Amino acid sequence: MADPTIHFPGSLGELLQIRKRHPEAPVYAGGTFLLAQRSARFVSLPPHLITLQDVDELHRITRTERYLEFGAAVSVRELLQLGSGNVPGALRDALGHVGPPAVAGLATVGGNLAISGRLMTLVPVLALLDTRVEARRQGRSRWIAAGRVHRTDGTVDLGVDEVFTRVRVPLSSWTKQVFRRFGSELAPDSDPLTFCGLVRSSNQILEEIRIVGSAGTPQLIRDKSMEAELVGRRVPLSNREVRQALELFGEPDGDLSAIQRVRMRRLVKWFLLGLR
Ligand SMILES: Cc1cc2nc3c(=O)[nH]c(=O)nc-3n(C[C@H](O)[C@H](O)[C@H](O)COP(=O)(O)OP(=O)(O)OC[C@H]3O[C@@H](n4cnc5c(N)ncnc54)[C@H](O)[C@@H]3O)c2cc1C
Repeated sequence: MADPTIHFPGSLGELLQIRKRHPEAPVYAGGTFLLAQRSARFVSLPPHLITLQDVDELHRITRTERYLEFGAAVSVRELLQLGSGNVPGALRDALGHVGPPAVAGLATVGGNLAISGRLMTLVPVLALLDTRVEARRQGRSRWIAAGRVHRTDGTVDLGVDEVFTRVRVPLSSWTKQVFRRFGSELAPDSDPLTFCGLVRSSNQILEEIRIVGSAGTPQLIRDKSMEAELVGRRVPLSNREVRQALELFGEPDGDLSAIQRVRMRRLVKWFLLGLR
C-alpha cells in the first residue's frame, strides 16, 4: 500500500483546491477528536489527510463592535486568552469546559462544530448566541447558523469538498449569561447535559430570554414559545409565573434519559427563579 500523503496547504485557496481534488481526505484541525477515536494503539492514516495548521486565514481573529469573528482553526485556548471583554461570558465558560489544558491548546472551534453524530460542548452556546459558520468550497461560500450545522440525523451539513472556514459570534449585550455542564458528550453513560441561558432586561423588564439544553444528541432542547411568553414580564418572576413557564416548557423532547429530563427542567426552574 502507498504511503499516506499529508497535505499542508499554506493558504485558503490552496486548501480549497486540495479539498476539491481529494474530497474523501479527512480534514485534520487540532486532531484531538480524530486521534481520540482511534481504536488501535497506533494511528493508521488514510491515503490522504489535509491539515489546517499552516492556513493563516483559518487562524485569524478579528473583533468589531458587533462581532467576534475567527478562523475555524483557532484553538479553544486562543479564544480564552482574548479575555472576558472580548468573548461572551457563556461562551468563555463553555470554552473552559472543553477538555483538559493540553487538549484546549489544540482543540479548535471548527473541529468542535464538525463532529458528526453528536453535539459537542460549544454547539448549544454558539447556537444560542446566533453564531454563524462559513462553509467554503472552491468558488462558493455560504453561512450556516450554528444551530443548523447538524441535521436532525446528526450528520454535519457540509458538502464533500467543503470546509468550515470562519465563525462569527454576534456581541449582543446580555444582562445575565449562564452556562452549566454535567457529564461529557464523549461518555454517553455520564448522562451529559449542557445548559445555557441568556437574558437581556431593562428596568427589571425582560426584553429577551433564550434558554437551550443539549444532551449531546443531535437535537437542541429549546422552547421558543416559553421564551416569547416570558418577554415583557417583570423580574424577579413569581413562583406562579415560573410554574406556568415550566408547564409550557413541558417534557424535553428527544432521546433523553430520565436524569437528563429531570435535570433540564430543574435548570430551567433555577435559571428563571434567579432572574433579577
Ligand atoms: C481528553 C479529551 C477530552 C475532551 N473533552 C471534550 C469536552 O469536554 N467537550 C468537547 O466538546 N470536546 C471534548 N473533546 C473532543 C475534542 O477535543 C473537541 O471537540 C475539539 O473541539 C475538536 O476539535 P479538533 O480541532 O481537535 O478536531 P479534529 O479532531 O481535528 O476534527 C474533528 C472532526 O471535525 C472535522 N473538522 C475539523 N475542522 C474542520 C473544518 N474546519 N472544516 C470541516 N471539518 C473539520 C474533522 O475532519 C473531524 O471529522 C475532548 C477530547 C479529548 C481527547
